[in-house]
Amino acid sequence: MTQRYPKGQAPAPKVARPPRLQFAPPPPPVSSGAKPACADCGSTTRNLIRVSPKVLLCASDIRKRKKTKKAKARNARQVRHFGITVEEGDRILELQGGMCICGKWTGYNGASRSLSTDHDHKTGMIRGKLCKHCNDLLGRVKDDPAYFEAMIEYLRNPPAVRALGERYVPEGQ
Ligand SMILES: [Zn+2]
Ligand SMILES: [Zn+2]
Repeated sequence: MTQRYPKGQAPAPKVARPPRLQFAPPPPPVSSGAKPACADCGSTTRNLIRVSPKVLLCASDIRKRKKTKKAKARNARQVRHFGITVEEGDRILELQGGMCICGKWTGYNGASRSLSTDHDHKTGMIRGKLCKHCNDLLGRVKDDPAYFEAMIEYLRNPPAVRALGERYVPEGQ
């Protein structure tokens, strides 16, 4: 017995789903005699370039495909190196106000000078996004918060002023 309902008593068929949103029409079948069409947008009037034995594309869709491929490669690279996706990286950046903590560089969505994903080299924990300057600085002081505390104290309360009062280098030096 494979049929759960006797004939004629099957439940009412489900309501048909609305058609899915489509950004591009499905690729038209390429058959001999049919007008050659772009595999992505279906255009038959644009200049078409053969990108593989069966696929023709217009210049605009070739650019779109290249862009998508580049973005995918970038995402794969970031996942491989840092274990986070580009989208997750952008969430970190958004929390930082779209820039390095020094407020200098922005680097959203593949901007040419994007920020580095900084991580704790001992534990591997990702900390945030930093510009090259800040990233290098952290490396030079070996991620030591005590260094920065000492430096803040040094700048706000210079020892030379405490020892000698305010003294200035001679002009022209
Ligand atoms: Zn096209
Ligand atoms: Zn910075």
